[in-house]
Amino acid sequence: MAAIAVELKLECRYCGSPIPLNAVSPKILCYHCLTLISISKESWKEILGEICRRVFDENENRLTFTGNMIPFYVEGNVCMRLYGKEEPMNLNRKPIPMKHALEHLQDNLFSMQGQTVFIRPIPKEYSSFLKSATHFVGEDETQIYRNQNSEIKNPTSSDLVVFTCPSCGGALKIDGTKRILECTYCKVNVYIPDALWFRFHPSKLTRRWYIWFGESYPK
Ligand SMILES: [Zn+2]
Ligand SMILES: [Zn+2]
Repeated sequence: MAAIAVELKLECRYCGSPIPLNAVSPKILCYHCLTLISISKESWKEILGEICRRVFDENENRLTFTGNMIPFYVEGNVCMRLYGKEEPMNLNRKPIPMKHALEHLQDNLFSMQGQTVFIRPIPKEYSSFLKSATHFVGEDETQIYRNQNSEIKNPTSSDLVVFTCPSCGGALKIDGTKRILECTYCKVNVYIPDALWFRFHPSKLTRRWYIWFGESYPK
């Protein structure tokens, strides 16, 4: 069974916040400043190509922790935290039975031990530089950018929070869809403070995901 484990994060070039790169996506949302950061196909090629090169050319058989030593400039610094050969595991570090999982995927999801694992065939635009790899395993599905409206889900109405306008003291209802909103009373633009914002958008942790090659690594 052949897979490469990957942990990546990006430093937002607009606000400096760390953004976990838990999925291969053309755009990643910074949850802090709400900027959509583009990561081009060429950038992914550089990042994933470099990981494959290190694993295969240097024939490293263990996981390598790199800290923040290898920045790639995309629209911010991409840092590898870890890469190396490892069989795919779920978030509880239990091995994913890949053969069984691929046979029983439903809408790219596989359930095991009360957890679902997101597994998708590698999209064409990324497969050309990933040799014989066939799937991405364990990505955070919510980080995959599909269209403009899918990124921030509207919280349910029970998530409404009342916030006092710092300018006029008016009571504003916020639902976490906008970082900056116009006060309905005094028309001043109000910036939602971090403490409140992160109630709606808890910061994500860097998660380990996998490039799956099937039975054996490419020659
Ligand atoms: Zn940011
Ligand atoms: Zn106001």
